[in-house]
Amino acid sequence: MRFTMTNAWSRRRFMRVSGGAAAAASLGRPSFVGAAVGGVPAAARNVRVAIVGAGLSGLMAARELRRQGEDSFVVLEARDRVGGRTLNMPIGDGHIVEVGGEWIGPGQDAVAALIEDLGIGAYDQYYQGDTTYDIEGKVSRGLLPDVTFSEAVDFANVAWQLDRLSQRLPLGEPWRAKNAEALDRQTFGAWLSVHAKTSFTPSVFRLINRAVWSGYPERTSLLWILNYIRSAGGLLPVILNDGGAQDQRIEGGSQVISERMASELGDRVLLGRPVVRIEDPPGAPMRVVTAQETFRADRLIVAMAPADTMRIEFVPGLPERRLELASGWARLPRLPLVKAAMLYNTPFWRVDGLNGAMQSDRSPIQLVFDNSPEDASMGVLSCFLSVVECPHLADRAAREAGLREELARYFGDKALDAKGYVEKDWATDPWSTGCITPLTPGLLTAGGEHLRKPSGRIHWAGTESAKVWCGYMDGAISAGARAATEVIAALR
Ligand SMILES: Cc1cc2nc3c(=O)[nH]c(=O)nc-3n(C[C@H](O)[C@H](O)[C@H](O)COP(=O)(O)OP(=O)(O)OC[C@H]3O[C@@H](n4cnc5c(N)ncnc54)[C@H](O)[C@@H]3O)c2cc1C
Repeated sequence: MRFTMTNAWSRRRFMRVSGGAAAAASLGRPSFVGAAVGGVPAAARNVRVAIVGAGLSGLMAARELRRQGEDSFVVLEARDRVGGRTLNMPIGDGHIVEVGGEWIGPGQDAVAALIEDLGIGAYDQYYQGDTTYDIEGKVSRGLLPDVTFSEAVDFANVAWQLDRLSQRLPLGEPWRAKNAEALDRQTFGAWLSVHAKTSFTPSVFRLINRAVWSGYPERTSLLWILNYIRSAGGLLPVILNDGGAQDQRIEGGSQVISERMASELGDRVLLGRPVVRIEDPPGAPMRVVTAQETFRADRLIVAMAPADTMRIEFVPGLPERRLELASGWARLPRLPLVKAAMLYNTPFWRVDGLNGAMQSDRSPIQLVFDNSPEDASMGVLSCFLSVVECPHLADRAAREAGLREELARYFGDKALDAKGYVEKDWATDPWSTGCITPLTPGLLTAGGEHLRKPSGRIHWAGTESAKVWCGYMDGAISAGARAATEVIAALR
């Protein structure tokens, strides 16, 4: 749900860094294409620190190691690109659209500091005009959905209770809350059914749960939801677009952050290096085995979602609780996500007084955003959907045609005249288990403390391990820096 805040505190928190694009252009394509098979010299295979994963978290860990004076490291990345769950896709005329992580917002200090350091600017997401809502079968347009007074009061009351409960959790350590087990035993859906007095409130939270947390309230742990809210500083920062987590966009697209970091790290970043086994033998260097080479290191940072670590063999095995957490996470029911962008000659909805945003509790589309380039030289509507909810759109061609028709429902027949379409189906991605995977009851209290606790000489990074803005790009960055600091301390 979009509330608009005219909050000066938030709006200009991210300074526009003029010349960011020029700086990017002068750097050219990064020179971190990785060494060819067998091409890493033996000496470079013996390092003090090996980092697995060149998403935001792994690259930030490397950057932080270097900042703290540690220069003997390597970053091993499975894909042939950096950025992990952030990905820029070209859409012509030099423009890109982000098909992974994209927006940043107030209070996200780690990403704000990093982009400033890298000379990358940010600009406002377009929110001028009315948002479109499709809730409980009713389509309405405005600042807020068309609600009755009692529905509005009920929603505000439930939101307030949720916020208050979340603020009682110890930051980043929800399993230490006094009533943690009771909160983790129940689902968010069960809690809503007790506290909501209208059908509207659960419908809107279902919308939020699907869109923000890639799951359904009836399967998601209440403790996990509360922790997520706590880590973002409250419910409003999570659900607000304008002034919340979807406030601003990154100049050049969010993947640029990783590309710029990798460019600075040079040949320390090795692409096409899926790590298959990690050995931590007592009294000997660790061995990090990729399809091509074996690296030896004194310490290791694994920077990815816990579920993704299940593809790596750990010798000796990980502590039982860590393994349960990671395997539980990998098995969880979630809404595998497609982020798709429909391309138009112009952002035609703007002249109709619409801001291009749409939020729905029905399928197939959960959310739409105006993702046009900043200069509005073309129009882009980005849509989030989950194929499990709309099997008739399982095929890409059917999806493109179906989405055009869906967009026409909300933005008129001009939406049928798309000039192009791009998408990323994260469900079929070999290296990312998901966007955000909500935890089912019981897992967080059973294994949560192993999110960050090192396992032998292995240190854990990745956004899921962050205390603040867990699940977001900001969390990925702070988690990388935290893991690097841990490693520096351990090496000393
Ligand atoms: C569709 C979508 C929309 C999103 N929207 C937003 C948003 O608007 N704002 C926001 O802040 N966040 C958003 N996010 C979340 C954000 O993208 C992530 O929080 C962040 O990018 C995670 O970074 P990370 O470094 O922790 O993990 P990842 O980006 O997942 O990086 C892990 C890296 O490890 C690599 N890897 C995996 N296995 C191996 C292996 N065996 N060997 C070597 N390398 C391996 C992967 O290839 C990957 O590069 C979104 C995510 C998605 C998918």
